[in-house]
Amino acid sequence: MASAARDKAVSYREKPFLVGSAILVAEQDHADGAERYSTFASHNYTPFERVRVGGAKRCAERNALSGAMFESKNGVVVAITTVSRETSTAPGSDSHDVLHPCPGCRTLLRQLMLQGHVKENTMLCSVNDAAVEKGGTPVVEEVKLKDVLDLYKDDPKVDVIRAAQNKEEWQTMSSKDPAFQADLEALKMDENFTEPEG
Ligand SMILES: [Zn+2]
Repeated sequence: MASAARDKAVSYREKPFLVGSAILVAEQDHADGAERYSTFASHNYTPFERVRVGGAKRCAERNALSGAMFESKNGVVVAITTVSRETSTAPGSDSHDVLHPCPGCRTLLRQLMLQGHVKENTMLCSVNDAAVEKGGTPVVEEVKLKDVLDLYKDDPKVDVIRAAQNKEEWQTMSSKDPAFQADLEALKMDENFTEPEG
């Protein structure tokens, strides 16, 4: 499903950067209390050539998560799968055997975790199938989301993300604390970040 979604990915990088994602969501049916499962798939999408910085970039997992949150307001993400031939989101960023979520998606995942839509034990299954074209086998990394997020110690801390979602907390925390300021600067790098009004 993630692989089929990738076939529709739109990228203008010199070497196209193509990612597909599929996510599994569990939701309690309010009528009979039974748990229902649904899947959402998407791919990365860049609308225009040369507009890669800022809000134009849409990651595969971000699109799939947006679709899931749009459709099922009480859903809990059980698993996120991504498939790609890449090993890092951008030149200079951390490279792994498989592609990990970009900084903006990691912030989104932490936000969704605060809201309960994503859990620490949500499985993140990242597949790199770059070798398959040459007859090799894909690299598969299957880990708990928390373990992947914990790898990125320099990301904005979760209390900063929480403060950014709440005007009162924001005003309390926007102090002279240098650690907070550093995290805030990192958070502002996220294309989807908006400061609470007021
Ligand atoms: Zn991303």
